[in-house]
This record gives sequence, C-alpha cells and structure tokens, in this order.
Amino acid sequence: MIYCAIPYAIEGLFASNKTFKRDELVTEFGVNLVRRSVKEVDLQSKSVIDEEGDIYTADIIFIATGATPILPSLPGIDATNIYTVKTQEDMEALLEKIGSGARRAVVIGAGAIGIEQAQAYRARGLDTYLVDMASHVLPNMIDEDMAGILHERIRENGIKLMLSSCVESIEKSDNHAKRIVLSNGEAVDLDPNNDFICFAVGMRPNVGLFQDQGLEMEQDGIIVDNRMRTNIPGVYAAGDCCQYFSAIDGKPLNGKLATNAVPMAKIAARVVAGLDEEYFGFFNGAATCSCDLRVASTGFTCAIAEQRGIEIIVGWGETTALFPMMPGAGKVRVKIIADAHDLRIIGGQVVSTLSATDKIDIITLAIQQRLNLRGLSKLSYSAQPWQSFMPASSAIVDACENALDNFKAQGEPLRHSELLECV
Ligand SMILES: Cc1cc2nc3c(=O)[nH]c(=O)nc-3n(C[C@H](O)[C@H](O)[C@H](O)COP(=O)(O)OP(=O)(O)OC[C@H]3O[C@@H](n4cnc5c(N)ncnc54)[C@H](O)[C@@H]3O)c2cc1C
Repeated sequence: MIYCAIPYAIEGLFASNKTFKRDELVTEFGVNLVRRSVKEVDLQSKSVIDEEGDIYTADIIFIATGATPILPSLPGIDATNIYTVKTQEDMEALLEKIGSGARRAVVIGAGAIGIEQAQAYRARGLDTYLVDMASHVLPNMIDEDMAGILHERIRENGIKLMLSSCVESIEKSDNHAKRIVLSNGEAVDLDPNNDFICFAVGMRPNVGLFQDQGLEMEQDGIIVDNRMRTNIPGVYAAGDCCQYFSAIDGKPLNGKLATNAVPMAKIAARVVAGLDEEYFGFFNGAATCSCDLRVASTGFTCAIAEQRGIEIIVGWGETTALFPMMPGAGKVRVKIIADAHDLRIIGGQVVSTLSATDKIDIITLAIQQRLNLRGLSKLSYSAQPWQSFMPASSAIVDACENALDNFKAQGEPLRHSELLECV
C-alpha cells in the first residue's frame, strides 16, 4: 500500500486500487512473494510459520513488520463505528462507511494523518470534527506560532476544530458510538447507525510475534545498531517496527515515516549483502497539507529541543511564494531553530501556499551537513516570478538572518569559531 495516498483515495481523487503496490516490484528481482500472515517465529532457529502452517527456514531474518495505529483504552472504544487508517481493509471500510450514508465524522488526533483524514471527509461532504488534546495542530511537527494560520484555514474549510480537548469516553447504543465526551465538558453527538469516529493518535510497533524471543525492544520498537542488526545474530530489522535515534543528538526519537524507513532498509540490505555501510539516524523531514497550505518540518521543534535540554535560538522569514505582483501569490513562512551554543541548525518549519518540501529539504541538508546559522544564511538561491520570491530575499535566508539578529539582541557575543567556518 502507498499509505500516504489513502486520504486522497478516500476523498475520491482516484480509484482506491491506485494505492496498491505491484507485486512485480519484488517478484521481478526473483523474490518469492508469499501473501500470507506469519503466525509464529523462532528467531534462534530462524524459522517462520505462516497462517497455512507452512514453515520457512533461513540463515537471516529481516523484520519489517511496521506499526499499527493506537486505539487508546477508553470506555466505549470497542464500538463498531470506530476506525483507524493503515491497511487496505481500513481504507475500504472507511470508503464503505462514507458511501453508505455517513453524515458526521469525528477525527481524534490532529497530526498529519488526522488532518488529512478530516480534509478527505469534509471533501466528501461530511460534517467533520477534528479533536486534539494539544493546543495546536501537528504538535509533533511544528510549534504553536506556525500553527495559527492552519487553524484559520481548517476552520474556514468547515472543519470543526476542537483543541485542548481530550476524549474521556465514548457512549454507545447497541455497541455503536453515539456520543464522544471530552474532558473539557464538551461532547459531540453521532447518529450511531451512520456516523463514525476515526482515531489517528499515533502508531505502535508491530512486534507481538517476537515477544519472549530474547529480542531487545523498547516501547517504540526493536533496538537495532547502526547496521540494522538486532541483538540476535542473523536477525535484522528496519522501519516502523524499530526504535531508532535522531542523527542530531544520537538519542531515541519517534520517527515513524516512510522517508526514515527507506534509508534504514537500504542499509540493512547492503549490510546483509556484505557491504560495510552504516546509518547514523534520521532527521525526520516530513510534510503534509492543511487545506490549501503545504506544511513541512525537519529536525527538532522548539518543544522537542527543550525536552531534550537544548538551549535554542529561533528566527522567522516570510515572503510571498511567487513574485508579489504575480496572480495568486500567497505567502511562505519559514522558521529556523538553532542550538544557542554553537548556532548549529537543528530544526526548521515551513508553511507555504506552494510546495514546502523543497524548502524543508534544503534545511534538512543544512542539518545533515552541520551548518550553522551563518552558513545557511549564505545559501545561494534562484529566483523566477512563477516559482519564488524576488531575488532580493529568500525566506530561508531571512529566517537565518533573523535568528542571528535575535542571538545578538540577547546580548550574547558570537562565541564560536564555527560561525565563520561555513562562510
Ligand atoms: C495514512 C498514512 C499516511 C502516511 N503518510 C506518510 C507520508 O506522507 N510520508 C511519510 O514519509 N510517511 C507516511 N506514513 C508513514 C509510512 O507509511 C510508514 O512509516 C512506512 O510505511 C513504514 O514502512 P515499514 O516498511 O516499516 O512498515 P509498513 O509499510 O507498515 O509495512 C509493514 C508490512 O508488514 C506486514 N506485516 C505485519 N505483520 C505481519 C505478519 N505477522 N505477517 C506478515 N506480514 C506482516 C504488513 O502487512 C505490512 O505490509 C503514512 C502512514 C499512514 C498510515
């Protein structure tokens, strides 16, 4: 499945089978594809038993079982009209529900998956609620100061956004959810026979098969080294089923993204093939769409940096996304976050009316290359009326210059020789 495309299939932009991947992606390389569920694994003897009872033995086991959406344990959570979004079955069940008379949907969780689901339901004409316990949307991707414009757009789009609201219980009628009760005293009523709730509150690693096998795991998944080796010889793992760490500070960080899983899997495959390659952690470059706005982030948000004990310095840049006289020129806003001790870039956020991924990938590269604010402020950029702001400014450069000004304004001398290194 191409999970990222599910919300757009639900919206009806293309047939749902366009989200399926072709078997030939692997069979063309001579891989024997077995489309069955694995029921038992013995990691010591390297044997696997599938749902039909067939047994496979091997020299190497590579675990890539992914993650499953979390359903919190709440009164009423077993109601039949509660959904999550991950599998083909989830997508088909949601399409069926929407097609058979649903009028109202409540999405719990305003992360990227929740926002994209809410937009899809709204586009299908449903009365849509989006609920999150955080005070702003995308709390793991962006900071509150970047989220205000998204809140406006989500509400203008007709989605009822309920922030700082935690689901307390779900009331049922004949095992169908009929009311969601929130901690702040508010509630949303549902037609129990037609309406539905979709939970998008995070993922937990799919590791149930490997319990009691001596495999080292943490809450966020299987522990692997930087060659994707687990603690059991001959057993490798990569992707959402693993706990992995940030390349910025080498500490564990939640990074359940396809763009993190792919480089991990490539390293694992190369190591198994006998190459000496290592993976040094992820940067968490991620993107989503919030109505007509494109949002992207990389590295640490201010909140995450502060949780990790990093003192930060921040700057913002804003231009139009096109030359300002061009028809339809909207805004692009960039936030840059640096470590206040050495001014090394550790995070970035972009909200734009045009693609945000190109800008965020530049900031990710700056983090990967350990550039500091001065280094990135020297970015040599291009300009064209339909594609950028005018030559005089780039929102990324402006954000870095603003952060440097903010740093100076704090009365701090520019302490580190690194400031000059990247010039
Ligand atoms: C709705 C949605 C939108 C997303 N959008 C984005 C996005 O825009 N950008 C991005 O970077 N990431 C996105 N992600 C996250 C991304 O899809 C995952 O990070 C990525 O798929 C992880 O890859 P993986 O191979 O580790 O796991 P998965 O892709 O989940 O693959 C795991 C596979 O293992 C199989 N499996 C599990 N248990 C067993 C078993 N017992 N027997 C046999 N097979 C088993 C599963 O069926 C599945 O096919 C999105 C996820 C969702 C759900």
